[in-house]
Amino acid sequence: MSSCSGPEDAKVVIVGSGFAGLAAAATLVKGGFENVLVLEAKERIGGRVHSTKPFTEKVIEVGANWIHGQKGNPLYKIAKEQNLLSEGPSASKNMCLQDYFFKEDGKQVSKTIVDQVCSNFSKLTDKAFEDELDRKHRKLSLGAYLNDAFGEFPQSRTEEGQQVFEWCKRNECTDEACSSLYEVSASQSSNYIDLEGEFFNTLGPGGYRAILDVLLKDLPSGTIQCSAPVKSIRWDLVKKGHCEDQRYPVQLVCENGQSFEADHVIVTVSLGVLKDKASTMFEPPLPKKKLSAIENLDFGIVDKIFLFFEKRFWPDDCAGVQLLWKEGPEDKDVYESLSEGEAWKKTWFKKITGFDTVARHPTALCGWITGREALYMEKLPDSEIRDICVRLLRSFTGWSVPEVSKTLISRWGSDSHVRGSYTFIPDGVDGVKAHKALASPLPPKDKCRGRKHLQVLFAGEATHENFYTTTHGAYLTGVREAERLISYYAD
Ligand SMILES: Cc1cc2nc3c(=O)[nH]c(=O)nc-3n(C[C@H](O)[C@H](O)[C@H](O)COP(=O)(O)OP(=O)(O)OC[C@H]3O[C@@H](n4cnc5c(N)ncnc54)[C@H](O)[C@@H]3O)c2cc1C
Repeated sequence: MSSCSGPEDAKVVIVGSGFAGLAAAATLVKGGFENVLVLEAKERIGGRVHSTKPFTEKVIEVGANWIHGQKGNPLYKIAKEQNLLSEGPSASKNMCLQDYFFKEDGKQVSKTIVDQVCSNFSKLTDKAFEDELDRKHRKLSLGAYLNDAFGEFPQSRTEEGQQVFEWCKRNECTDEACSSLYEVSASQSSNYIDLEGEFFNTLGPGGYRAILDVLLKDLPSGTIQCSAPVKSIRWDLVKKGHCEDQRYPVQLVCENGQSFEADHVIVTVSLGVLKDKASTMFEPPLPKKKLSAIENLDFGIVDKIFLFFEKRFWPDDCAGVQLLWKEGPEDKDVYESLSEGEAWKKTWFKKITGFDTVARHPTALCGWITGREALYMEKLPDSEIRDICVRLLRSFTGWSVPEVSKTLISRWGSDSHVRGSYTFIPDGVDGVKAHKALASPLPPKDKCRGRKHLQVLFAGEATHENFYTTTHGAYLTGVREAERLISYYAD
């Protein structure tokens, strides 16, 4: 076993340089740890935060875009203190009020109807998020609960009201990162805690990357090694005596054969990567409880389709074009008829909610798509996706839509180092139990029996009981695991 007696001797390797990994590294360094290494699979840092400047000097956020909530949000605090927030007003939670909603026949739906349905929809989701569901709704999926509860409102009896309601559910799939709300637990939604203050806080010209840079400032140079995908994590080595002069309990081997030894490893890879690789990555294998948590929690896909035009063709007061279908994928009957088989692939584009305007890019629109349809789209060439989007924009709005000059399309589901966008709690799963099992370090404290404690620790968005899905959740889990090690050496 390593003879380290204090944090200055302890060797810590962090797997992943997203918010969780960088927060862990910065906290450890501040806490006196002198031997911290971050191994990152990609050639860039940030993980699901990807602020890029592909075409101009202006940032595009391919991943996370907003800071959700203000009070108690550590990233909002950093952004505010460092003057990194956007100067304009933050977007309102009911963003659809500035949007134009079009039906398949090209007719626009009145703002009054949109407003009524969207605000009733918000009331219903708030009830689920604030743990105020009626008993009859507690065992339902979020989709089934919403269908039942929306039936009480007069708009449910009009065709347009139903179409806007279907759009609201499709749009909510973006928040949940799910294929469908019929797969999400209604009662478990209250595990997620909304922080007080504006929900959609936007960052200034540096984008999310500017917050990552604040964390990087605290790290000695050479702390992060990019293009170093970890292939295997062998733990409990000292006890098993793999090698007579084995000093460290954990060994990591990268895809290129490079190997590292450590007293402690903090694993921050996404739930998607764990689903894909956990069974082969760890030796000895992860405990059953952790493997079940990895299997039971779900990791959905949200993709963005950026379309850049030479000139703006939508009215000044239009913040987005939203698409309403006669038979949309979140209609109960449509969902049920398409749940089996492959027919949904023919209409994958119906899952696109619409096209929003993009901050700092006055001639760009961003389409949103989720779930299995997003994964299907990811396999198509950009040109095919672009042509379908232009066709949708032309046929729904009737406007003269020019050709697209450039596209930028995310493919989070196919990205082997992420495998999706963020976590959701499926219908029938106990979220708190699963998040806890995912977060618990190895070996478990009660089963240490002389083995070194805290060999492998787990951080990352999916390990937070209340702020899963978010950047601040990821950040806080990195701090949590670093503090676990700091107090271990302080005891
Ligand atoms: C499209 C999209 C929009 C989003 N919008 C928002 C938003 O507006 N607001 C918000 O709060 N959140 C948003 N999120 C979620 C947010 O981005 C994540 O919750 C957060 O960034 C996760 O951070 P993390 O550190 O837990 O994981 P990650 O960022 O996934 O970091 C894990 C890192 O591990 C690396 N890795 C994986 N495998 C290996 C390996 N074998 N070896 C070494 N390294 C490895 C990965 O490359 C990655 O860099 C969005 C996400 C997406 C995809």
